[in-house]
Amino acid sequence: MNIQMTDLRAQYESIKDEIVLAVAEVIAESNFILGKQVSLFEQEVAKYLGIKYAVTVASGTDALVLALTALGIGAGDEVITTPFTFIATAEAISRCGAIPVFCDIDQETFNIDSSKIEKKITSKTKAILPVHLYGLSCNMKEIVRIAKANNLRVIEDCAQSFGSECCNKRLGGFGDCGCFSFFPAKTLGCYGDGGMVCTNDEDTAQRLLSLRNHGQDPKNKYIYHMHGFNSRFDTLQAAILRVKLKYLDKWITKRVENAKLYNDFLSSFKFLITPKVPQDRSHTFNYYTVRIKKHRDSVKDKLMEKGVPSAVYYPLCLHLQEVYKDLGYKLGDFPIAEQSQSEVLSLPMYPELTKEMIQNICQELGDVSL
Ligand SMILES: *Cc1c(COP(=O)(O)O)cnc(C)c1O
Repeated sequence: MNIQMTDLRAQYESIKDEIVLAVAEVIAESNFILGKQVSLFEQEVAKYLGIKYAVTVASGTDALVLALTALGIGAGDEVITTPFTFIATAEAISRCGAIPVFCDIDQETFNIDSSKIEKKITSKTKAILPVHLYGLSCNMKEIVRIAKANNLRVIEDCAQSFGSECCNKRLGGFGDCGCFSFFPAKTLGCYGDGGMVCTNDEDTAQRLLSLRNHGQDPKNKYIYHMHGFNSRFDTLQAAILRVKLKYLDKWITKRVENAKLYNDFLSSFKFLITPKVPQDRSHTFNYYTVRIKKHRDSVKDKLMEKGVPSAVYYPLCLHLQEVYKDLGYKLGDFPIAEQSQSEVLSLPMYPELTKEMIQNICQELGDVSL
């Protein structure tokens, strides 16, 4: 059985004819950057998410940097976020000259523990940046309440949670900006790098349009009111994503079904804990991640020997990374995040995974843990 962490080729095979046609059309038109397909995709994706404006950019990391910049967050400002995320989340804050202030996560969901956020607020705090890790929504009701009460901005990192919901509403529009990544392995991935910022605020949307294109006035070519970036989106990628968006609900349903199969097959295993989804929130399983209570690394190695890949997202919390040693954190500062870094294991997950494959993976996992 050929099992991968994610099988992009299998997905491509299922939509090949449409993709080839869409790509050929863009090449025939030869308007390769911010072409017609880009604005069409932006309209379609905004509608899908139920958010007024969608501005595509060059990557998910850029989406975070541009969102923070568009909201005026910069030198000396503090932004509260999780230490248990991909580096890009905190990197974007630092790139803007602001300071990431870490807050421990919740044991069950791996997401920022909203009951610990208020203690981190100081006179310098400007924003909260929650990350919906693995595809599971954070407690947005509570985060938005805290932000309103303290006059803070909210920027959602939705890189792993395209299509997930909180209180029956899709993520990305709860705060001031929602940031998405179209990196190939994400739930909605293109065939290269790509990203997007969503917002319900027209002024913010206008600033984002300008920022992604060198600060150029969106209506007047070669007129500049601010310092910007070159963070434009490729027309080819937009054309590919327009095809994929039509299938996304079906793929997400498959991911959720696959997660349920995993949960069922793994339910009797005492050495691990399967993912929990709190009420009022949804999980789209960009990653299916379990906690292995003991010897996670050797379980991972032995699984690989049996031909079953797995991954650790993420093996070292951001507050313990050398790049952040100047912030003065130490081991013990965020016990739940630190425990998680040595326990998490993500198993293969993609829509095309079959019941037999999942059964096989679970069987191997049971065997290697003996
Ligand atoms: C992938 C990812 C990003 C960055 O997206 P890129 O498109 O790779 O730049 C940011 N945050 C999280 C949580 C991610 O998983």
